[in-house]
Amino acid sequence: MTSNIFQDIIDKKIPADIIYEDDLSIAFNDISPQAPTHILIIPKKKIAKISDADNEDENLLGHLLLVGKKVMSDIGITDYRVVINNGSEAGQTVFHIHLHILAGRTFGWPPG
Ligand code: AMP
Repeated sequence: MTSNIFQDIIDKKIPADIIYEDDLSIAFNDISPQAPTHILIIPKKKIAKISDADNEDENLLGHLLLVGKKVMSDIGITDYRVVINNGSEAGQTVFHIHLHILAGRTFGWPPG
């Protein structure tokens, strides 16, 4: 299995500002925030990108969204944007599925 920076966070080989963790997932603050609140939610299972996910990942992917909901509810933020970049042309730089949850400023549409 190819390693990546998020695998190192899962394995606790490098530090991260972890907000929430359970058997399936970890949520932590993005090291280079693009909004006042910028949280990443990752599965502990290594899946490089959404287009690599299988039917067996259905519950796991739903779990990530519900973790996002819980984390934002816990910090009292109701309005936020959830982003998944799939592939380098879409802006993906770390090839381990992650949800970006962004809040604290107004977002434009369409996204840049
Ligand atoms: P993406 O470009 O969608 O693949 O998003 C990768 C995100 O990971 C970027 O927003 C980075 O700022 C973030 N990132 C990279 N390394 C770390 C790290 N060690 N801790 C927290 N966030 C990171």
